[in-house]
Amino acid sequence: MRLILLGPPGAGKGTQAKLLVEHYTIPQLSTGDMLRGAVAAETPIGLKAKAVIDAGKLVSDETVNVIVSERIDKPDCARGFILDGYPRTLQQADALEAMLAEKDMALDCVVELVVNDEQLVERISGRFTCANCGEGYHDVFKKPKVADTCDRCGHHEFKRRPDDNADTMRTRLQAYYKETSPLIGYYHAKGLLRRVDGMGEIGTIHAAIREVLDSTCG
Ligand code: ADP
Ligand code: ZN
Repeated sequence: MRLILLGPPGAGKGTQAKLLVEHYTIPQLSTGDMLRGAVAAETPIGLKAKAVIDAGKLVSDETVNVIVSERIDKPDCARGFILDGYPRTLQQADALEAMLAEKDMALDCVVELVVNDEQLVERISGRFTCANCGEGYHDVFKKPKVADTCDRCGHHEFKRRPDDNADTMRTRLQAYYKETSPLIGYYHAKGLLRRVDGMGEIGTIHAAIREVLDSTCG
């Protein structure tokens, strides 16, 4: 199954992707994670991206497209993958379609997580992750079971993204509505879009996504 999780920052894409990875045993392809990995591994793309990231700019569509294309060629993607955070622009969506066609692949589904702006701000301002394994948490909605200890790997250090605060959320949401939300129409026109209510409990939303995937995708 090849699928895209679409939605504004804080909609729960990362959270839901991780649950889907466990259920369908296909990998989550997060371009943010891949870029950070390329930088750490000092690959040619990583070295190029590092300068851009360090300057606080956005990595070019071209660079992200190459990273995704190379990632999809890895054997663990043969049975499918979950794209989280990509494509972000219409240009990237076109590039994705072309690269998949070249590989004789096609998307099965695009799941849009629908969450209202007020809830997005609440989720983003409470978000933090395990510094070791990346498991996502929230101050109110998803605390570690044992205080200051990662449920998944037992580590005690956590990190917060500097851009995860109520002040910057407005700018990030505007960028989403301007650049990424046109993808909703784009995928609707291709018959791939499935809207899922992203308000409510994490487990309930996971069940709703699975229902959609199992009944109407691929
Ligand atoms: P995205 O990847 O779309 O930016 P995340 O998956 O990181 O969003 O979720 C943002 C924050 O909201 C995280 O702290 C996460 O734990 C929390 N969260 C995710 N889904 C829900 C939900 N259904 N209800 C409450 N909080 C949620
Ligand atoms: Zn951890």
